[in-house]
Amino acid sequence: MVRILNIKNYAKENNIPIMQDEGIEFMCNYIKDNKIKKILEIGSAIGYSAIKFASINSNIFVTTIERDDERYNQAVKNISEVKLENQIKIIHGDALKVDIKEKYDLIFIDAAKSQYIKFFEKYKKNLCDNGVIISDNLSFHGMVENPSLTNNRNTRQLVGKIRKYIEFLKTNEEFDTIFYKVGDGVSVSKRINMHD
Ligand code: SAH
Ligand code: MG
Repeated sequence: MVRILNIKNYAKENNIPIMQDEGIEFMCNYIKDNKIKKILEIGSAIGYSAIKFASINSNIFVTTIERDDERYNQAVKNISEVKLENQIKIIHGDALKVDIKEKYDLIFIDAAKSQYIKFFEKYKKNLCDNGVIISDNLSFHGMVENPSLTNNRNTRQLVGKIRKYIEFLKTNEEFDTIFYKVGDGVSVSKRINMHD
């Protein structure tokens, strides 16, 4: 689809950190294989990943949250250009402040990397019984595995936060997590079934 390619190019030119090809492919396959219908995305940027998910088939509905004004506006424009307004609902606001009551088959965490634990804790209540939480950028350009790749203090702090999130997932007693080395590092967390 030419239009989706344009969105991807726009992201590249404007340094907007959309999901990498390998990661997006992994997620789209996951959505297809598991017949996912309702998705909540934290961090829309310009709508690229939401558009990719909703394009899989017309039964898929995505709610996505973006706090940045410019990116939100661009996302609204892109969603309308690909005519997916009926399948994608975009919320303009801080995901840590908005209140969502609905339940989802899949929650995709892809916003501020320093807040992942907070997003996870806040939104796990919005998960259907067999739902999953998928998180992106757990490798953070390889820096999580190899901290010497950066000397920047802020980046180091961020990498430290991502490590903490990984530890949080590994030691979580409510959720089981599998880590995948695809794209920029993706994890899939499922609630442990107490009745098993
Ligand atoms: N999922 C997108 C990329 C998202 S980039 C894609 O793959 O196409 C991360 C986005 O999260 C940024 O645009 C940033 O503005 C947004 N963000 C960060 N913290 C947020 C928060 N607390 N609430 C809402 N959006 C947030
Ligand atoms: Mg990402």
